[in-house]
Amino acid sequence: MPVVIVENDTSQWEDETGAVYHFPKRYKTWLVQGTEVIYYKGRIKDKAFTPSRLSDAPHYFGKARIGKVYADPKSGKGDLFAFIENFTPFESAILSKNGGAYLETIPANRAKNYWRDGVRPISQTDYDAILSYAKLQPSQAEAVVLNTEDNAFDLESFSEGNKTSFFGTRYERRKDLRMKAIAFHGLDCKACGFDFEQAYGEHAKGFIHVHHVVPISKFGGEQAVNPETDLVTLCANCHAVVHRKRDETLSVDELKGMLRGRWVNDCA
Ligand SMILES: [Zn+2]
Ligand SMILES: [Zn+2]
Repeated sequence: MPVVIVENDTSQWEDETGAVYHFPKRYKTWLVQGTEVIYYKGRIKDKAFTPSRLSDAPHYFGKARIGKVYADPKSGKGDLFAFIENFTPFESAILSKNGGAYLETIPANRAKNYWRDGVRPISQTDYDAILSYAKLQPSQAEAVVLNTEDNAFDLESFSEGNKTSFFGTRYERRKDLRMKAIAFHGLDCKACGFDFEQAYGEHAKGFIHVHHVVPISKFGGEQAVNPETDLVTLCANCHAVVHRKRDETLSVDELKGMLRGRWVNDCA
């Protein structure tokens, strides 16, 4: 059954549209891998968000599919998060009300509180009706942009305020891969345990390098990247050492072996 997922302008979670979606466990029967979803935003609460929305009114703004679903290790309440696949934004907002009627069929027993739910299963008919109004932008599903000129550092990442952006002198990466890698692996270094926010405070919150375990130069072209197995989070020092020698990229286990018995215990 298709599902409408609500995205709030502000949330306690570091959700990223089209990449990662957090949700409470009561919704887990609806959000399973393969579920077709439509993104929705409710009426605007803070006008500061107008530029980042297609409309101030309640509206649908994209479609996607649910990828792998994980228990969120940072949640004490059993919350989960899902990878979002095939996100395709709409060119313009599709308002929740069309010609005076809602595009979602509201069950009679839910008339009072229907819109409160952040995750709403809808009928295939409603799903098709909403999409019939959509003008789709190109899908953002393409995997990796390959730049064959260099092969050393694969990714530098910087956090500017709350918006994470990143650039690589060697390879450009999709932002959603970075968000997925962080959602899965966390913000601490997987070799030495270093946590930027813990060490430097708020200014460094969200900062971490995302390292590609298999050098892209060995891919020989575009290929889907699995954030769970192909990417890992490393601090800047460990990442530098992994790439210390041009012809030899260390594995995370090799790096851990080098660290053992040195300063790793002071670092965690
Ligand atoms: Zn490290
Ligand atoms: Zn790397």
